[in-house]
Amino acid sequence: MEAEIITIGTELLLGEIVDTNTRFIAHALREIGLDLYRTSTVGDNAERIAQAVSESAVRAQVVITTGGLGPTVDDATREGIAHAIGVPMEFRPELWKQIEDRFALFGYTPTENNRRQAHLPKGAKAIENPIGTAPGFIVDTEESVVIALPGVPAEMKLLLENDVIPYLIERLSLTNVIKTRLLRTAGVGESWLDDHIQDLEHLSNPSVGLAAHPGRVDIRITAKAADLQAAEEMIGEVEATIRQRLGDAIYGIDDESLEAAALSAVEQRGWRLVVAECGTNGALADGLSPLSDAFAGGKILPQVEGSEEMEQALTQAQTDHSAEIGLGLTIHKEAERFLAVLLLRIPQGEVRKKRYYGGPPAYAAKWAVSAALDLLRRRLA
Ligand code: ATP
Ligand code: MG
Repeated sequence: MEAEIITIGTELLLGEIVDTNTRFIAHALREIGLDLYRTSTVGDNAERIAQAVSESAVRAQVVITTGGLGPTVDDATREGIAHAIGVPMEFRPELWKQIEDRFALFGYTPTENNRRQAHLPKGAKAIENPIGTAPGFIVDTEESVVIALPGVPAEMKLLLENDVIPYLIERLSLTNVIKTRLLRTAGVGESWLDDHIQDLEHLSNPSVGLAAHPGRVDIRITAKAADLQAAEEMIGEVEATIRQRLGDAIYGIDDESLEAAALSAVEQRGWRLVVAECGTNGALADGLSPLSDAFAGGKILPQVEGSEEMEQALTQAQTDHSAEIGLGLTIHKEAERFLAVLLLRIPQGEVRKKRYYGGPPAYAAKWAVSAALDLLRRRLA
């Protein structure tokens, strides 16, 4: 069973707003096991909307649009969908009544323009919008289900979760669930991971894929099954194999961050951490400070030549905060690559590491932060 999403709005095409609706809907569709292979965006133009909807409806059983449901002539989604499906528009007195009532509540009278919002493609089922004036709607034909949602993200989300998803589950007798687990790794590269789990990356269900971030790589395991428990069992088996092969390269799962993993290792021992960093613009401290009191503070140094200033600052910070753990980091460009110097002080002693980075300069600081946190969490593991 396949779905497509069409976001509607000239603002989107002009790059004035970022399309967050697609992402949200894509996620919701995945959870109910509807496949999504294509999404598109069109401007506020009835003809192009009609064309996009017709094309999507040929490929997919479910077409979801967002935007263009407002009261102005610009808002062409209703007409576009009616045209695509080949039905006329129809005035719906009950919707008009709802609109009048909502306006009355705020002491206003709706304008003639608002009457547009009381028109729907003939045969459409209206979806009441309790937090806005534009109702959404569903046109259900033999071949496809076309669903129009408002553009305003909060309204779109509410209607999607309360009305559309339950409707689709029922209408399409969806029984499959899709469950995903992320295994998060640090301190190993994408190619190293590839070498170790390549065979698993060819599986289709569960499927296994990699997503690289500076200094960290996520392994995504996705299973499709008749129910959640079955999906989790399938994931569990693959996860066990991966864990066996990768060992302590894995620092966490799902939304657990490397910052959180490193800091919780400190916290578990009842210790506290300070950092001193240079060349990272405070990125190390920024990632740690919202997390826990086990992070006692950080010193950010201006660009320095070597690591001596960093060491001194770290000593100072450890003394100031009587912190058991000190993590120091400097990174600077050296010829074609970056050199990071890491310094970790734990009560048992001191570790110093040099690491080279040759990736995109924009990610150098993030990569260095990952390297420092990885050193910390591995030493405390
Ligand atoms: P309204 O009744 O408020 O006019 P509408 O259904 O006509 O709703 P639009 O006019 O297309 O929706 O969009 C309203 C606002 O919602 C936009 O100005 C924008 O802020 C936001 N919006 C629209 N589409 C998207 C999208 N795809 N992603 C994120 N925000 C969006
Ligand atoms: Mg609008």
